[in-house]
Amino acid sequence: MRKDFLPFTRPQVTEEDIACVSEVLRSGWITNGPANSNFEKAVAGLSNSNHAVAVASATGAMHILLECMNIGEGDEVVLPSMTWVSMVNMVELVGAKPVFADIDRETMLVTPESVSAVISDRTKMIMPVHFAGVPVDLDGIKAVSKGIPIVEDAAHAVGTYYKGRHIGSDNSAIYSFHAIKNITCGEGGMFVTNDAELEKLMRRWKFHGISMDAFDRENRGRSPQAEVVEPGFKYNLTDICASLGLNQLKRLDEINAKRTQLALKYRELLADIPEIRPLGDPSGYDFTSAWHLFVVRVDTPKIDRDTFMAELKKLNIGTGLHFRCAHLQKYYREKYGYQPGVLPNTEYNSDSICSLPLFPDMTEDDVADVVEAIRTVLA
Ligand SMILES: *Cc1c(COP(=O)(O)O)cnc(C)c1O
Repeated sequence: MRKDFLPFTRPQVTEEDIACVSEVLRSGWITNGPANSNFEKAVAGLSNSNHAVAVASATGAMHILLECMNIGEGDEVVLPSMTWVSMVNMVELVGAKPVFADIDRETMLVTPESVSAVISDRTKMIMPVHFAGVPVDLDGIKAVSKGIPIVEDAAHAVGTYYKGRHIGSDNSAIYSFHAIKNITCGEGGMFVTNDAELEKLMRRWKFHGISMDAFDRENRGRSPQAEVVEPGFKYNLTDICASLGLNQLKRLDEINAKRTQLALKYRELLADIPEIRPLGDPSGYDFTSAWHLFVVRVDTPKIDRDTFMAELKKLNIGTGLHFRCAHLQKYYREKYGYQPGVLPNTEYNSDSICSLPLFPDMTEDDVADVVEAIRTVLA
C-alpha cells in the first residue's frame, strides 16, 4: 500500500507562478488592472474569440450572462443534469427553468438527439458541457438548435479542440479557473464571445453596472465620475489571480500533454479490469481532449461506488465525484417532481462514476499504484 496519500487532484504551482503573483503584490495595484487585460487577451487568442471578459468564477459569469441575455421568468435553458450544479442554480435564481438533456451513456456528453428532444419555443439558451475535456458534437447540436444561442460550458475544456478548432471558436463559452481545473487562478473564470454587444454588457454587469471602456481597463481604474447605467454585480477578477492564470496558461500544452500521458497509462492498465469501465470516446468527429478528469464507472455487483471510493481512501488513494446529477438533488427533485428513471443515462453514470487521481505532477508509478489499489479493493 502507498505510504503517502495520493489526492485526486493537486494544482501545479511553480516558482515562476509565485514570482508572477509576488510581482503584482509588490506593484501597488492588486485588483483588476493590467494582468486582467493580458489574461483576457491570452484566453481570447487561445479561443479564436474576438472578446474575453475575466470574472471571479464561471458561476458568476453564468449569472450575469443570463441577466445580459434577458433570460428569466417563463424562459428555459437546456443543459445536462450531469454538470456542476452551480450552473443549474444560476438558471433557477434568475427565475428561468433548467431543462435537462440526457447524456450518452458511454461518453457522458449531450448529443444532438438529446438536446433536440427537449428544445421548446421557450428555450433561450443551450449550454452543452465538454465533459472531462472531451468536446460535444458542436456542429450536430448547432444543426438542431433552431438558431437558439449556444453557450459552451468550457470549465473542463482549456486545451480542448473540436475538428481542429479550440473550444470557443464558434460560440460564446465560459471557462473556469477554479483550483481543480487544468489551469487555475485559485478562483476565476472567463467569458469569451464574438458578440461585441454582449462583451460590453458583461463588462458592465460584472462591475456594479458602471460602464468601463478599453481605456479604463488599460489605465488602471476609471474616471471617478463614471455612473451606473443599470445596477450590476461585483464579479471582477483580481490581478493577483489573473497573474497566476496568465502564467499557468503559458504551460498549458505541457500540462495537458502530461495529463494525456497519464490518462493513456490508466486506459492501458485498466484494460483487463472489466468491473471498472473508463468513459468511451465519441465517434464521428476529430477531437483533442484536455483530459480534465479520468472518470470510471464502478460497474459490478461486487461493490457499489460509494464503498469503492471509501476502500480506495483506506489504501491512501483519493477520488472525486463529478458529478452527482442535479435533477435528483433535494431542491430540484422536490420543485419539479423528478422521479428516478427520467434521465436513464445520466442516472446510471451519477450512481456509478468516480474520478481517479489525475494531475500534472503525478507520475506513471502513481497511476500504477491506483490500479494496484483498485485490484486489491475488487479482490
Ligand atoms: C467547475 C465547473 C463550473 C463552475 O466553475 P466555478 O469557476 O467554480 O464557478 C461550471 N461547470 C462545470 C462543468 C464545472 O466543472
